[in-house]
Amino acid sequence: MSTELRVVRLSLCLLIFAFQGVAQQSRPIGYQDTPMLPGGKWHVHDSARPQPIEVTPGATCSQTTPDRPPSDAVVLFDGTNLSKWRTADGSEPAWIIKEGFAQIPPAETPNAGSIFTRESFGDCQLHIEWATPDPPVGDVMNRGNSGIFFQGLYELQVFESYHGGIYADGQAAAIYGQYPPLVNASRPPGRWQVFDVLFTAPRFEGEKLKAPGYMTVLHNGVAVHNHAAILGPTAHRTLNQYKPHGEQAPLMLQAHGDPVRVRNIWIRRLKDYD
Ligand code: MG
Repeated sequence: MSTELRVVRLSLCLLIFAFQGVAQQSRPIGYQDTPMLPGGKWHVHDSARPQPIEVTPGATCSQTTPDRPPSDAVVLFDGTNLSKWRTADGSEPAWIIKEGFAQIPPAETPNAGSIFTRESFGDCQLHIEWATPDPPVGDVMNRGNSGIFFQGLYELQVFESYHGGIYADGQAAAIYGQYPPLVNASRPPGRWQVFDVLFTAPRFEGEKLKAPGYMTVLHNGVAVHNHAAILGPTAHRTLNQYKPHGEQAPLMLQAHGDPVRVRNIWIRRLKDYD
């Protein structure tokens, strides 16, 4: 083979290698054809929105025994049964209970869907511990996906995003599609993580919004939202407007087909609704 031919072959190989690298790097992990968020800087799930800086949390959540709830908490799940929960149609949830946690079953299982508290809640303090599968399963855009929906409408994201991956406003502890967490305080897949949340329900006057809902969130003891004003019901690829609803509504835990585990769920009411 002539020297010229070798040079041409080598150049071609380098070109293909470089192209593959660019193709991998440019794999879309978000969107820019979605509505603009207030402030006019970012789209919903904007692929250009910076990933939160990673912070290693301290020891806030036991990897063996769940933390104990305070004495006045409504215990929603103590590791033994899901009697405080129902599916969307009122059936008993089919979530798998073992070793003190509940795990989301395969999607084809009857009654495998999202679960709702039988009681309704407004302003509240919520504690929940959760773990995503180890090793992780699924695409980077749908990995260890679950979520805590306050009043069934406002999602605090549960996701496997230890080193990011998905768009910033879709990772763990994001107020989905609205606010990335201030920092990424995630633990690795399979480790127990904890959310402690102060939720203020939105206020309505007739058909009008009087005050938005708010979330303050600690993820593994690290503040990731400080009284963030919720923009409306959270959703994929869109920005929903508030619609009036009752002062109290059930809490929902999302089943998204991934075997995410939850344990030690308790809630405290922060307002009298009588
Ligand atoms: Mg989710």
